[in-house]
Amino acid sequence: MGAMVTNFDTLIAADKAHSWHPFTQMRAWCDPSHEPLLLVEGNGAILRDSKGREYIDGNSSIWTNLHGHNHPRLNAAIRGQLEKVAHVSFLGTTNAPATSLAERLCALFPADTLTRVFFSDDGSTAIEVALKMAVQYWQLTGRPERCDFIAFDRAYHGDTAGAASVGGISTFHGRFSGMHFPVRRIGSVSELPTEADSIAAVIVEPLVQGSAGMRLWPTGMLRELRAWCDRHDVFLILDEVMTGFGRTGTMFACEQEEIIPDFLCLAKGLSGGYLPLAATLTTERVFEQFLGEPEEQKTLYYGHSYTGNPLGCAAALANLDIFRDEEVLANLQPRIALMRKYLSQLADHPHVRDIRQCGFLAGIEIGIDKRTPFPWTELRGARACVAARAHGLLTRPVLDTIVLMPPYCTTEDQLEQAVSAIRQGIDAVCG
Ligand SMILES: *Cc1c(COP(=O)(O)O)cnc(C)c1O
Repeated sequence: MGAMVTNFDTLIAADKAHSWHPFTQMRAWCDPSHEPLLLVEGNGAILRDSKGREYIDGNSSIWTNLHGHNHPRLNAAIRGQLEKVAHVSFLGTTNAPATSLAERLCALFPADTLTRVFFSDDGSTAIEVALKMAVQYWQLTGRPERCDFIAFDRAYHGDTAGAASVGGISTFHGRFSGMHFPVRRIGSVSELPTEADSIAAVIVEPLVQGSAGMRLWPTGMLRELRAWCDRHDVFLILDEVMTGFGRTGTMFACEQEEIIPDFLCLAKGLSGGYLPLAATLTTERVFEQFLGEPEEQKTLYYGHSYTGNPLGCAAALANLDIFRDEEVLANLQPRIALMRKYLSQLADHPHVRDIRQCGFLAGIEIGIDKRTPFPWTELRGARACVAARAHGLLTRPVLDTIVLMPPYCTTEDQLEQAVSAIRQGIDAVCG
């Protein structure tokens, strides 16, 4: 450490006095007995806390990090841009990192499919943009009655009001449901309506619903959904905020069922997990409807102060360079197999009800026994994750599903240690 000694106790006192943490019951957080973990450094898959303890970043800092912390190329890209300019407006002017990034994102898809990129700041806003573009498209094409959305039970698409409208987890959004966009919720593709004249779009998390506890869709589901949308001329919005950039084993989850959506929402890993940045990709068909004279009022009146932020876009460009130059996807395949191997060792644990893996992410669901869940109020999943910290793993559960989705650079030893820490965490709170 340098000359300036940081007083971590003072910082924690300040946090408890003034911070309000997301998705957090702040009474428990502020209780004198609670010692918040203060993270100070990261390197590769490892995070270090203020007491010098090290942890594997078992959920990639809430599903964002891809190539590890303190990555030299991402650091250099951000520093390089910082020496030029940190931020300029994308409203009325343009900048090199954002334009290059838009071009390179489109180039990740077959020619003439997803050709337009609208930048925003996080997953929720990427979804807001897609929802609003869909609604406005139907207004501009003389079909204003197409203003409902179809969304799935247990879906999670973010917390701003529009994104929350299409969410299916009532604990998160139920309180505000009276103020939401119109949405019809279904459990599976078999419940899609036969008549769809009022539907603007269907939205789904492809292959796996993250916040539902890493729940996998049946194979073929996406293809069926695409076919239904085509038959009824309804837009398909894919939320690849979590699944994008290799997490499921392919660059994008939609590749695994060989479909292309009308809107593709990206965030979390877009900047390598470094900076808040999001993108909504869409087609020329959608884009062209918004073209016209100013008085025709076809313009998309949407945007944020930091849209197209050069620092974030520079990080995203470096992220794509790393994928290309370091053959990330090819190198990831053996690690996916290793994750499967190590997780299989948990399969006959008496308190492990289910293990769901998709690419380099997994959910390990615990319960009283193979059939019976714990009462959720016992917070066993959360307690197991806290117990796993003592064995060098940092992660969070979704209810009683422990999430394992470390950065792609996680070594074989670290992966083994992570699974062993999960086992010890479960043993500590289920014994
Ligand atoms: C995290 C997440 C979001 C919301 O992204 P934020 O950046 O937290 O607003 C939306 N959809 C999915 C699938 C996510 O995992």
